[in-house]
Amino acid sequence: MTVLEIKDLYVEVTNDENEKEEILKGVNLVVKTGEIHAIMGPNGTGKSTLSETIMGNPHYEVTHGDILIDGESILPLTVDQRARKGLFLGMQYPAEVPGVTNTEFIRTAMNERDPEHKISIKDFIKKLDYTMDLLHISEEFEERNLNQGYSGGEKKRNEILQLMMLEPKFAILDEIDSGLDIDALKIVAKGVNSMRSDRFGSLIITHYQRLLEYIKPDFVHVMMGGKVIKTGSAELAAELERVGYDGFKEEL
Ligand code: ADP
Ligand code: MG
Ligand code: MG
Repeated sequence: MTVLEIKDLYVEVTNDENEKEEILKGVNLVVKTGEIHAIMGPNGTGKSTLSETIMGNPHYEVTHGDILIDGESILPLTVDQRARKGLFLGMQYPAEVPGVTNTEFIRTAMNERDPEHKISIKDFIKKLDYTMDLLHISEEFEERNLNQGYSGGEKKRNEILQLMMLEPKFAILDEIDSGLDIDALKIVAKGVNSMRSDRFGSLIITHYQRLLEYIKPDFVHVMMGGKVIKTGSAELAAELERVGYDGFKEEL
């Protein structure tokens, strides 16, 4: 078992007026492999800030607290080093990368993540074919440039393809459901559910409860005002749907 721990985390960003703004105000969270956690919260509450900070985006400055994997701080590590530790971030707004095909990108990422166990072309293709099938991704996609000209739904499915190919220990999935129709949503959920094992943990960030009908989380956290204000079981997501975020204001 591997443990990802967020400990009393405070994070600042520099805004457009060049002033520092505190976004995260003491986030505590423990995710273990084998567990799926959902974080729900209104817009602007710091969910993406949390995911970018875990992955090591230098734009986000940790002013207090720590992020640890198996008790060891990962704060000194770069994004690449964190990826090698087994972290994966599926972004809310994935970047388009001209000049790099999907296939090249995935294969390079796999080999960089685990340079001592490079995958053979034959095994890579086998795994890619199988995974693309499962996610209903057509073959022409392999030679297309990374995310370029993709619809929102295609980008999200591509994120899940990367996830399934890379097999990280922890996946942070930031609003992978946004802009998806119900069929695409089901496919994305199928991909994530296929990853479920005692070697995989996930932090699923979502604005809506809908995704959680297809990916059953073990824990649900409500985030408001830059911290986790409530933690519960999958039931909490349903409660949230009923009372809305306003119903949780008194917890702040
Ligand atoms: P959420 O994902 O919950 O909608 P975000 O983490 O995207 O929230 O944003 C939280 C707050 O932090 C917002 O007020 C947003 O404007 C600010 N913020 C987030 N990222 C940046 C950034 N890179 N630069 C400046 N401000 C940011
Ligand atoms: Mg947002
Ligand atoms: Mg966000």
